[in-house]
Amino acid sequence: LKNQLIKKSDYLWELPPHVKKGMKVPAQVYASRKILEEIGGDKSLEQLTNVAMLPGITKASIVMPDVHEGYGFPIGGIAATSWPNGGISPGGIGYDINCGVRLLTSKLTKNDLKGRGEELAKALFSRIPSGVGKGGNIPLSEKELDKVLTHGVQWALKNGYALEEDIDKIESWGRLDNADPGCVSEYAKNRGIDQLGTIGSGNHFVEVSYVDKVFDHEVARIFGLKEGQLTVLIHTGSRGLGHQVASDYMKVMIASMGKYGISVQDRELACVPFNSPEGQDYFRAMAAAANYAWCNRQVITWEIRNAWKDFFKGKDTRLDVLYDVAHNIAKVEDHIVDGKKKKLIVHRKGSTRSFGPGHPEVTDCYKDTGQPVIIPGSMGTASYVMAGTEHAMEESFGSTCHGAGRRMSCRAAQKAVNIHELEKELAERNIFVRAGSRSGVSEEAPIAYKDIDEVIEVVHQAGIAKKVARLRPLSVIKG
Ligand code: 5GP
Ligand code: MN
Ligand code: MN
Repeated sequence: LKNQLIKKSDYLWELPPHVKKGMKVPAQVYASRKILEEIGGDKSLEQLTNVAMLPGITKASIVMPDVHEGYGFPIGGIAATSWPNGGISPGGIGYDINCGVRLLTSKLTKNDLKGRGEELAKALFSRIPSGVGKGGNIPLSEKELDKVLTHGVQWALKNGYALEEDIDKIESWGRLDNADPGCVSEYAKNRGIDQLGTIGSGNHFVEVSYVDKVFDHEVARIFGLKEGQLTVLIHTGSRGLGHQVASDYMKVMIASMGKYGISVQDRELACVPFNSPEGQDYFRAMAAAANYAWCNRQVITWEIRNAWKDFFKGKDTRLDVLYDVAHNIAKVEDHIVDGKKKKLIVHRKGSTRSFGPGHPEVTDCYKDTGQPVIIPGSMGTASYVMAGTEHAMEESFGSTCHGAGRRMSCRAAQKAVNIHELEKELAERNIFVRAGSRSGVSEEAPIAYKDIDEVIEVVHQAGIAKKVARLRPLSVIKG
């Protein structure tokens, strides 16, 4: 498939629908030549063309430069299907519903931390529960959990885990209002009941970083970013609850696809019409899990704020939310397709919303800049803050990449990486890592990921997000 990619521009490549029987729309890849060399060694291009066959798929099946193989759908992908009867697919959203990233900005600089990076990693690690299946510090009753699922971050505000001003700085204001806890299984609820305020394993993290370079000074000013400033990046999602929602509905979709006359290339692409009862139940359950994830990142914010106050006693310990983005989610959105406004079901799986200036779903404080887009790189490289663009609305359903993306599978990385050497090398660069599982750290080694600077350059040059600032890691907490 890779050899059949047609160059549309320096940063956009296309597989026309005739390359594979059943494709309804072209398959598009955002990449530079350098990135192209690294992709396609796995099933991701195959998966991308399968997605181009989905019921109701509109305009194109798209992947970003951070693309890699995922469950059915590639990670780093966008699939928009026509509303109301196009397909909705759990595989197009991912098992970690509303996995996402939040960035906090501080009033302190790198100098305030000098020589205490390891101590800060320890302090955060002891405060924030992490690891597979790990329970948190906030036990909920079943009734309270239902409130979390229904009200999202509003629950956190009511219970003292959020500041009023945080709400405006969260995608969808931290709440999807079609959420229905009644569509979430008891088993899923059981898995989530004691996990609020926990990071989870492996790829999830809390990372203290600093602003290493500002590219766009005007936007950075509005985002509240300055060179040298300490920031905190949070990456986690809906934990066991969201995972169980995805598993539960995957079974539902596989069992009921046939009755809607849908057959797919691969079971992992199972879907049903959005407006079918099964489709609606999944959409309501997905929204509930998304609300849980926003509360999770909010409670972790509260934990970090407390730890920060203790650690930097006597200094200005305020932490503001810059923004919180979802990168595994489906939403009903309006987009212009062939000159006409169309309602679509936009699946983003390992892809970040990148709405431009003036979009009604972008909070007022960012209406002149476009929404903040937060892109983690790895524990040993840079991460980026970008801004959404008008051009993303025209080209990629208002979407961009979500990370560097894997270039090695977890297993390959475990084999390739010597943990002691990695930790030593990072410590020499003043990056301190605290993790629940050491094998987890090797899976997440910088060499397991693509070159973040190149990935960012692609989306910046393609105009689907623009560079605002670059961050560098200091103290990293891993699951
Ligand atoms: P995912 O949601 O696909 O698991 O991960 C999103 C992105 O996070 C990855 O593509 C990778 O670039 C980035 N990432 C993984 N681990 C770390 C880390 O420890 N620190 C930072 N800054 N980024 C990471
Ligand atoms: Mn994620
Ligand atoms: Mn996740």
